[in-house]
Amino acid sequence: MNIDEIKNVAVLGAGVMGHGIAEVCAIAGYNVTMRDIKQEYIDRGMRMIKESLEKLEKKGRIKSAEDVLSRIKPTTELDEAIRGADLIIEAVPEIFEIKEEVFKECDRIAKPECIFASNTSTMKITDLAKATNRPEKFAGLHFFNPPVLMQLVEVIRGEKTSDETMQVLVEFVRRIGKTPVRVEKDVPGFIVNRVTAPGGVLLMSIIEKGIAAPEEVDAKLKKIGLPMGPFELMDYTGVDVFYNAMKYYAKTISPDYEPPEALEKMIKENKLGQKTGRGWYDWSTGRPQIDLSKATDKVDPLDFQIVEINEAVKLVEMGVATPEDIDTAVKLGLNRPAGPFEIAKNLSEEQMVKRLEELAKQFGKRIFEPAETLKAGKLKEMLGKNKSDKGGFKTLKIIKDPETKVTKLVLNRPERLNAISPEMLEELDEAITLLWNDEETRVIVVTGAGDRAFSAGADLTAMTAHVFEFLERTRKGERIFRRLSEIPKPVIAAINGYALGGGLEIAMSCDIRLAKKSAVIGLPEVTLGLIPGWTGSQRLVKLIGISRAMQLALTGERITAEEAERYGLINKVFDDDSFEEEVMKYARDIAERCAPIAAAIIKRLINKGGEVPMDVGLEMESFGAGIVFSTEDLREGISAFLRKEKPKFKGR
Ligand code: NAD
Repeated sequence: MNIDEIKNVAVLGAGVMGHGIAEVCAIAGYNVTMRDIKQEYIDRGMRMIKESLEKLEKKGRIKSAEDVLSRIKPTTELDEAIRGADLIIEAVPEIFEIKEEVFKECDRIAKPECIFASNTSTMKITDLAKATNRPEKFAGLHFFNPPVLMQLVEVIRGEKTSDETMQVLVEFVRRIGKTPVRVEKDVPGFIVNRVTAPGGVLLMSIIEKGIAAPEEVDAKLKKIGLPMGPFELMDYTGVDVFYNAMKYYAKTISPDYEPPEALEKMIKENKLGQKTGRGWYDWSTGRPQIDLSKATDKVDPLDFQIVEINEAVKLVEMGVATPEDIDTAVKLGLNRPAGPFEIAKNLSEEQMVKRLEELAKQFGKRIFEPAETLKAGKLKEMLGKNKSDKGGFKTLKIIKDPETKVTKLVLNRPERLNAISPEMLEELDEAITLLWNDEETRVIVVTGAGDRAFSAGADLTAMTAHVFEFLERTRKGERIFRRLSEIPKPVIAAINGYALGGGLEIAMSCDIRLAKKSAVIGLPEVTLGLIPGWTGSQRLVKLIGISRAMQLALTGERITAEEAERYGLINKVFDDDSFEEEVMKYARDIAERCAPIAAAIIKRLINKGGEVPMDVGLEMESFGAGIVFSTEDLREGISAFLRKEKPKFKGR
């Protein structure tokens, strides 16, 4: 099954998650069937979808609620729901026997190529897959609540899930407008819930040992800026939810997670938090007022971060996910400003190890013992590894320099003049995600491997014959090139040779184009019976005006770098001998002198400004000004100017 063949999605369960997942898929244009066991549950789900769509329509986030609704077919018949499905997403209650039964039935009815995905929060994908005869087509798709708002989806590999299924699901998540992270092993808690799990044990240990009372801990953490204290939050989401998770982890990860007596007692007394009027706090008269003057000094908030970092490192050691993906997952899944590895970069490894050993000893919990990588002082090494070091990218190379914060993204198929194959397109998409929020990258230089070509265009040998496939591939390219143009940092195309067709379209999707004197530039599509289909027909005219765009696109003519500079297509031309040196100097200079947040905002304003009326653009500009006004970098920029020194921007 390839991603373009997925048209019909069946969502099983119309509850809290099911209805939201169905809505998200329909918004993205998929035909959705949503199945529940009783008409009243279906009606409730449809009502909630309708309400949510109407809100989105009012906000202008979708064009027509009615149009989206027309793509969702509710039913109580399993057969009807999944007969034509290309993908089934299961969101029935978290009870193994129910899920097992559902998947068995689905396996019997669904077509053989249909992919199965479970939204389970805790169960092993491998175990659920055993209910079917298609474990290679079975994976986890873990959405967060509410699916319409939450950006993250964990894509979880079971022991037998095929690479193809993972790839299709990762792409599917992107197509429904969410951010996928790959969970390469189905460990309990996957990424987000697993990383935060030891923090729960720490909280319980603090209470159990009488080090501080819940309110004292909450006051401390609220004082340093958390919107809710952890006990208050537990009450809000349900003490039973926390208790069940601890029980589950005690069984599957370590007995260290066994809930303490105090928690057992609360469950027995039905003190489940807000929903029963009492939990750690009394909720009978509304939200508890936490007295900040009670903040304890016996609890160090940093301890919570350290145990999370430790768990995140262990996940990487186990091969569950990359550090980048863990950071992305934690930020998007928990709405946090930074992920564990981003925080770890500012902490001393030695001190973390010392503190973890102390915590393990003090509370008698082995789960706090430091990860091997931390003990060996190799966290930097772990973080330095990116996908290209691990041989993950085949058609690209990413070369980072944390010192200068300039990252090179090299199109790496020199034997084929760096022609863009479908694989390169996929990898480009992944590389964009990787670099999007990467703190070690302030400026990206896109260039070609070898000295003959930037990229000679789409790989014609990989052209598909079927007209619809071709159309879809074109759309995919457009989407990826658009993402390249939207990376929130300056992107420079270093055109070191041929930039033809798709190659030129990549360069046009960058912000600034620097070219080698001997570079050759053109859009030869028309001479092949093609059209510039990866944003070229639209971007070229914006960059150089109709007259010259017509000339290049209608003749397929090749022009020199200097001519292209005259046309305004290239910003600067450098001599062949000094090209690389000049480009890197140019990029380093931007990385050093320009404030990252201001640069990201300017980029948005310029890119989007041309698409809206002037008064809307100016409104956007004033908002942008408001944002930069609150940054530390603005203060640094101005004070450095007055000090007559170079500013040291932090991107904050
Ligand atoms: P829910 O109880 O709100 O909804 C489950 C729905 O499934 C109910 O409407 C129920 O009638 C229906 N159902 C029961 N048997 C069915 C069957 N055989 N076929 C079709 N529908 C059936 O539960 P939920 O919160 O939406 O959770 C669903 C799944 O998503 C669970 O596996 C849960 O762990 C997971 N999950 C939940 C959250 C969350 O925050 N609620 C977050 C992530 C994942």
